[in-house]
Amino acid sequence: MNVPEAPAEILDLYRDLHAHPELSGREHRTQATVRAALEPTAARIRDCGGTGLEAVLRNGEGPTVAFRADLDALPLHENTGLPYASTVPGVMHACGHDVHTAALTGAMRWLDRHRDTWRGTLVGVFQPAEETGAGALAMLDDGLFEATGKPDVMLGQHVTSAPLGRLLVRPGWFLSAQRSWRITVTGTGGHASRPHLARDPLVTAVAMVSRLQSVVSREIDPFRMAVLTVATFHAGTKENVIPAEAVFTVSARAYEPEVAEHLRTAMLRIVHGEAAAGGVDARVEEISHLPAVWNDPAENARAARALAAVFGDAAARAPGRSAARQRRLQPLRRAPGRPRGDLELRGARPGPARRAPQPRRPFRPASHRSGRRGPGGGAGGAPGTAEGHLGYRIPSGFLRDPCATSKTSTTKHH
Ligand SMILES: [Zn+2]
Repeated sequence: MNVPEAPAEILDLYRDLHAHPELSGREHRTQATVRAALEPTAARIRDCGGTGLEAVLRNGEGPTVAFRADLDALPLHENTGLPYASTVPGVMHACGHDVHTAALTGAMRWLDRHRDTWRGTLVGVFQPAEETGAGALAMLDDGLFEATGKPDVMLGQHVTSAPLGRLLVRPGWFLSAQRSWRITVTGTGGHASRPHLARDPLVTAVAMVSRLQSVVSREIDPFRMAVLTVATFHAGTKENVIPAEAVFTVSARAYEPEVAEHLRTAMLRIVHGEAAAGGVDARVEEISHLPAVWNDPAENARAARALAAVFGDAAARAPGRSAARQRRLQPLRRAPGRPRGDLELRGARPGPARRAPQPRRPFRPASHRSGRRGPGGGAGGAPGTAEGHLGYRIPSGFLRDPCATSKTSTTKHH
């Protein structure tokens, strides 16, 4: 397969972005860098959503197509030894946003220079704070798409784990919806020697966590994707003191709205049921709620054909679906019924994709310094590999929040 070489200007931009990563909401240099790169074009550029940019390139009558890239990096310490490795201790572009941003900036510059090859309106959406989920909504609140109207198609691309040189597209469900909650179980503290005088929240919270594990295995059709994970649990300060409170978090993922709703109602049933059984109070607060990605099959096929014309077989394969959450296309929740696309770019070292070694972390939290990391690797993926996807429509039914009920619920028992 012969993948065309990226123009030097895009590679230079990529290396510059990679060397100067910025955390979510603080992408000031990145914003200025992209703005400077687009300034020579005919695009109308404006700051949007704080540290993001909206760049509109008009070229006569035709469809409005939005392309989206994200700007922020992760709080990881880079130890790749690359000549263009991060110059910022504890911050690294480990999720490929530098690739996304360089590619979109380069594409807009190319399309500006070759305006005879296309017609319509191109909207470059340079989204800040993808990692926190805040940037997309901030852009919408700041008038994204107001100048152009809702785009007819929205395209995104992502770098993730796969062998070098693959461009992957998948129609239909691609990235799952994700919701998470914080559960606070409150009883009455006491001394470990006198449990009968306390209302122990810990025992009940443990029962909740244990019972939650049965939801997916006992209540969800095995052929439908669902995940329910409890990843944090905090209670108590000393071995001889019964705490007054136990707090844990629940993360649920699913593609289909009715499955997602089942997970939510089952979680509430178990939490409040166990609270009643244990005679303690329980409070459920929603932490996050992000929609799934549905890649419109028709747009997906069109994009795949276009990619195949340039990249040949490299563009033909569909990636596996992912239970990774999706913050990227959140802007589209306010543009229901519009086709959208996510292009997966995969590019890194040659060789088959493999599972990242589990016991040893390929990188470490910023406070550690001895991690090793392949260049441009997708977080959690095979070292040194990267990919990106073509995705499209979020069905309008799903956009009507299936869980438009109260964001908190409580059980009271005294
Ligand atoms: Zn990311």
